[in-house]
Amino acid sequence: MSTINKEQHSFQAEVKEVLDIVVNSLYTDKEIFIRELISNASDALEKLRHTQLTEQNIFDEKLDLEINLTTDDKANTLTIQDFGIGMTREELNQNLGTIAHSGSKAFLASLKEKGENNESLIGKFGVGFYSSFMVADSVTVHTHSWKPDAESLIWESEGVGSYTIEESEGNRRGCKMVIRLKDEHKDFSSADTVKRIIKEYSSFVPFPINLNGERVNTVDALWLRSKSEIKDEEYKEFYKFQSNAWDEPSFWLHFNTDAPLEINSLLFVPSENREKMGLGQQDCEVSLYCRKVLIDAKPKGLLPDWMRFLKGVVDSADLPLNISRETMQDSQLVQKLNKVLSKRFIKHLETLTKKDPDSYNSFYEKFGVFLKEGVTSDFNNKDGLIKLLRFESSQTDENKKTSLKDYLSRMPETQKEIYYLFGKSRESIESSPYLEAFTARGIEVLFLSEPVDEFVMQHIYNFEKKDLKSIDSNEIKLEDQPDTSGEEPLEDKAFKTLQTWFEETLKSDVKKVEKSERLIDSPAMVLNTDPMMTGQMRKMMKQMGQAVPDSGPSLSLAINPRHPLIKKLAQIQEKNTDLAELVAKQIFDSARLASGLLEEPKDIVQRMYQLLEKIG
Ligand code: ADP
Repeated sequence: MSTINKEQHSFQAEVKEVLDIVVNSLYTDKEIFIRELISNASDALEKLRHTQLTEQNIFDEKLDLEINLTTDDKANTLTIQDFGIGMTREELNQNLGTIAHSGSKAFLASLKEKGENNESLIGKFGVGFYSSFMVADSVTVHTHSWKPDAESLIWESEGVGSYTIEESEGNRRGCKMVIRLKDEHKDFSSADTVKRIIKEYSSFVPFPINLNGERVNTVDALWLRSKSEIKDEEYKEFYKFQSNAWDEPSFWLHFNTDAPLEINSLLFVPSENREKMGLGQQDCEVSLYCRKVLIDAKPKGLLPDWMRFLKGVVDSADLPLNISRETMQDSQLVQKLNKVLSKRFIKHLETLTKKDPDSYNSFYEKFGVFLKEGVTSDFNNKDGLIKLLRFESSQTDENKKTSLKDYLSRMPETQKEIYYLFGKSRESIESSPYLEAFTARGIEVLFLSEPVDEFVMQHIYNFEKKDLKSIDSNEIKLEDQPDTSGEEPLEDKAFKTLQTWFEETLKSDVKKVEKSERLIDSPAMVLNTDPMMTGQMRKMMKQMGQAVPDSGPSLSLAINPRHPLIKKLAQIQEKNTDLAELVAKQIFDSARLASGLLEEPKDIVQRMYQLLEKIG
């Protein structure tokens, strides 16, 4: 091939500066130059497809609309070639001689003038091509425009101050770009490396991409197809391909919006919660695309943290393709996407609770913990998430759960609060002394048994204007309940004496001793006087290695004036102080044990022996 009429051109004045930015700081990963060049080739093919609709006379008409990459690790080159629209001399000057002049943008503008549009064009921003100079010593572009009378041309530059354009012979339609790699970037002439990069970023480009003659992209951008055309099997296959997964998705949410943003997204809920399997905290693996081209496989901030268990794709045509990861995180656009996507996902779950409660419940069993995390950390979605929470309760069967809304629907009008109790298991909650009064009055109590539950409740504080209260709190006042035990209570005077003595005996451990109107079968129970620092909370903070504030004893002991043991204690308290003291301490520790707050049972055992010694 001979060349004729070589012209030398200087880049536009500001080009040097901009090139420097593009080459040194715009992109975090050098490898994305391949993505950019493939996107340009794809755009050029798309433009040709569009042109074919109206133009009769097209140069080299029969060529396939495909993108071919060839690596040569001896010559240290990577070549990208397409049979797209190509460029005329004027276009070469305009598109590759000026930075931030995007031919795609001009093409779109000219279509708009004619009242047409083409949404499939990727590049709008006019700097992608220059990213090749991050890795290249020089770039040569062989091109021939689709226009039959156009010239065959070669553009060449080292990406510094100038470029040349010369005529050549025998170019086919389209563009062939030869990237002569810098020594330190030799790796981009290795077929394996290039294949990996194509797969990662350009798997869904709508034209065939061949690498050294072999097709690389074989999967459709499913998220852009119409839902009604897609079979379940296709969704499952896509999930496995896109998420590198072996399992099947539990379900998926495929949705498209045009306003306020153009979003096409496909979110999958996997079959298992990987964090529960002990694999540590996951990164969010919902990838961000712009018009089928990957921007970031693990974008930070695209979804709220609690949604990190999802897999899939979000494609927004409104994103600039050349956005770098660092700037993306604070981009307003990403924040908007975050908002729209999370709201939409929550709405989907809400619909599922009504349409298919079994599926929702099995989802909740595995992933409910993420929703709870959301309640405590995602202020924007808190209200929506609270409605999705489910708990067992004193009125559900074992392993069946209720929503707060259903709890409210069962609540008598006179009840002013929503009650809950934390415990290790349903069994231990059911045998707790706190529950007695509620069971006797038929008041429903939610059973919380996951460590985060109490923390979550403290973030909710009220639901539909009803406060949430833990029933181990001393603030709870219940309506009087007729006594069913048949026992006469201690008289007031005797009770007062016992109370004063009790407080004195336990003064280092309890804030106060009070009369309980709530207890039925148990002699005593401990109550929490600090709603923000429950015993469970203290335990959790200790486990997390946090300093637990020491505000002195925060428990009060409520004693049952009808219980035979309490009445007996009132009798012996003056006559047999030693024994009475042992019994009082044992009652207090047993009450702590029953509420799961006794951390060290050593004393209780010792004391038991001392008590047994006193038999007879
Ligand atoms: P962008 O793709 O964002 O518009 P680029 O700097 O990557 O910006 O490219 C500048 C312009 O050069 C493109 O808009 C396009 O007009 C032209 N161009 C780049 N690659 C090709 C190609 N393979 N075929 C035809 N034109 C191309």
